[in-house]
Amino acid sequence: MVTRSIKPLVAGNWKMNGLKAELAVATEIARGYDRELKHTVDLAICPPATLLFPMTAALTGSRIATGGQDCSEQESGAFTGEVSAAMLADAGAGYAIVGHSERRTLHGETNAIVRAKAEAAQRCLLVPIVCVGETQAERAADKALAVVRKQLRGSVPDASTPATLVIAYEPVWAIGTGLTPTAADVAEMHEAIRGELGKLLGKAAAAGVRLLYGGSVKPSNAAELMNVPHVDGALVGGASLKAEDFLGIARACR
Ligand code: PEP
Repeated sequence: MVTRSIKPLVAGNWKMNGLKAELAVATEIARGYDRELKHTVDLAICPPATLLFPMTAALTGSRIATGGQDCSEQESGAFTGEVSAAMLADAGAGYAIVGHSERRTLHGETNAIVRAKAEAAQRCLLVPIVCVGETQAERAADKALAVVRKQLRGSVPDASTPATLVIAYEPVWAIGTGLTPTAADVAEMHEAIRGELGKLLGKAAAAGVRLLYGGSVKPSNAAELMNVPHVDGALVGGASLKAEDFLGIARACR
C-alpha cells in the first residue's frame, strides 16, 4: 500500500465512441460515485466533442469533470474540423487530453505540436493531460526511458504546476491490447517521469503533478497498478465505456 499525498484522478477516454444514448453511462457513473469515492479519487470523462456539452450538463452537481480528447493549438479561424480549447471550456470541460498516441501516430503530432496544444489548453484554464509513452520496438531496444524523457522535454509547457498539468504515461503497445507493463516497469518509468519533470518545472512543482498510468487498465489489474509508487491515477480507454468497470477502477484507488 502506498501512502498518497496526491489525490488520484481516474479519467475516461471514450475515444470515438458514444451517442446521446450513452449519456446514461455517465449518469450511472455519477450514481455510483459515492461520498467515500469522492473523498478519495477525482473522476473525469472525456467523451467525443459532440457529447461534451450535454454530458457536462448531465453531470452537474456530481463533481465529475469532463474533458476534450484533443484541442487545436490555434485560437480560432479557418481551421475546418478543429475544436479550440476555448470551445471545450465553453462546453464545460475542465481537461483536455493532448498528445494521445493515436493522435501522435495517426495525425503526425510532434512534441512541438503537443506542447502548443497543451499551452492552448492552459490559456483557457483547461488542465492538459499530456500523454507520453514508448512503442514496443523502443521498449525492446531498451529506449523506453529515453523516449519518454524526450517527449516530456518537448511536450510539457514551461512553468506548469500541479494545478495546471497532468501527465499520462501510456505505453503505446499497452493501449487497447490487454497487455500491461510489470509493476516494476511502471514504477521505474513513473519515477523517471517525476525526475524529468523536476528538471523542467522544479522539484517542488514536479512533486505534486499527477502522473496517470494508461494502457489496458481494468478492474482486475487496477489495484496493483494504482499501488505503484508515483502512480496517481489512471487514463482509461475501453473500460471507461462501462459504468461498473470505470467505478471498479476508481474503487481500486482507495
Ligand atoms: C487510452 O486510449 O488512453 C487507453 C488507455 O486505452 P485502453 O484503456 O483501452 O488501453
